[in-house]
Amino acid sequence: MEKEKILVGAHTSIAGGVFNAIYEANRIGANTFQIFTANQRQWSAKPISKEDAKKFKQAKFDNGIKKVVSHNSYLINLGSPKKESLELSRKTFLEEIKRCHALEIDYLVFHPGSALTSTEEECLDTISESILSFESEVKKGKTKLLLETTAGQGSNVGYKFEQIDYIIKKVKHKIPIGVCLDTCHIFAAGYDIRTKKGFDKTFEEFDSVIGLKYLNAFHVNDSKADFESRKDRHESLGKGKIGIDTFKFLMKDKRFQNIPKILETPIDALWLEEIEMLKKFAG
Ligand SMILES: [Zn+2]
Ligand SMILES: [Zn+2]
Repeated sequence: MEKEKILVGAHTSIAGGVFNAIYEANRIGANTFQIFTANQRQWSAKPISKEDAKKFKQAKFDNGIKKVVSHNSYLINLGSPKKESLELSRKTFLEEIKRCHALEIDYLVFHPGSALTSTEEECLDTISESILSFESEVKKGKTKLLLETTAGQGSNVGYKFEQIDYIIKKVKHKIPIGVCLDTCHIFAAGYDIRTKKGFDKTFEEFDSVIGLKYLNAFHVNDSKADFESRKDRHESLGKGKIGIDTFKFLMKDKRFQNIPKILETPIDALWLEEIEMLKKFAG
């Protein structure tokens, strides 16, 4: 029974139709997964048709999928100092919320934003305003928005728990909000999770700064880049600079048992093995 509760999956492809992600999840032994609901490198996308939504929900039920996560487009910058790109980002995000609602997606994960020419604090304020502007749309469905921890590459914000907390505090009274923690990103950002001591310290810090109740999803990735490199380069589990032990700590931790853990590791041919391994770590 215990094993049933463990939620492990990967970022699966929607090529050929959004429901195909579910068959792919099933093939790799996943009971949760993440998708792009549309092409993540294009600004405009079609809304989800009623027929596709119906097929998706049926396939989800038939395959015993528990939680579904969407990852928004990489083009969106909710903290942009440029008026035009900010407006386009907000409009595109709203469309993503609509697609998530149509598919009854549990969590919409997004990178907070990039400061570009502004200061980090200005960027965090703009992101908070952007999120607040989604209030009426978010309330129409059950999808919760999850801020993703970042590696801090370029001018990306969200690489410190304090920055994530800053946004949460500004929006939580109006928006259902949580966090998706990416193991590769926090490691590159300077949270040393390689040893049990460091792992425990990191989550103590997460709890005291943000609060563990906000932790709703994990991206489970090893890192090609070094500790504190501020570079976002995913690696297959155990083959990178983090090492396999961290994923054992993660899977054995009872606090995180019911939280979806999504692989975004680069070799999809290994997902079946990686999921099998993670389940074994959980015991
Ligand atoms: Zn991401
Ligand atoms: Zn990444």
